[in-house]
Amino acid sequence: MSAKFRFVFFDVDSTLVKIEGIDVLANGNAEIVQLTEAAMNGEVPLDEVYARRLAIIRPSRADVEALGARYVASLVDGAEETIATLQSLGVQVQLVTAGIAQAIAPLAEHLRIPARAVHAVSLVFDDDGAYRDFDRASPLARNGGKELVVRNLLARAKGKAAFVGDGVSDLETKPVVDLFVGFGGVHTRARVEENAEAYVREKDLRAVLAYLIDHD
Ligand SMILES: [Mg+2]
Repeated sequence: MSAKFRFVFFDVDSTLVKIEGIDVLANGNAEIVQLTEAAMNGEVPLDEVYARRLAIIRPSRADVEALGARYVASLVDGAEETIATLQSLGVQVQLVTAGIAQAIAPLAEHLRIPARAVHAVSLVFDDDGAYRDFDRASPLARNGGKELVVRNLLARAKGKAAFVGDGVSDLETKPVVDLFVGFGGVHTRARVEENAEAYVREKDLRAVLAYLIDHD
């Protein structure tokens, strides 16, 4: 076996895990769930939705810690094996997500992905753990943010790259990577399926390996 790519970037929510973190924090708030779905389908701009959802939910530090544990318990089938296989072949696996950095960190640690390979949006809390704000400078809270982050990474380190994700914000990276793989194992999204160079409908993430490694 050998890797076709030096870098493989993964989305997190509905790609590595079966949940959307922001919806878990929203605890069933129908307005939030609807906003998330619309953003992931590319119907409303992410920047509009991002600030609005957090302003409504105002998650505490404890809420975000609980989400971190929930992430680890919600892995997509085959996700751990997929990451481990790629890493064993020398691939640099990186996470590129609009998810909350403090909640993604335990998941990344579980998957043995170093902190420097995790790109997410940090929240700011007050001393008592109450929500204050999110990192408004992060490109990942805006449309085109994933493309920008990936392009900047690849400008510094040369090598072939692939991106695996379920949403329209993931699809935006298609022009800057060598292969975009759409993952429909949790949610299928028509716009992603129509435009992805490769698309996986299997529920087990290991199905993406067919596009990422050669069986020499
Ligand atoms: Mg996603």
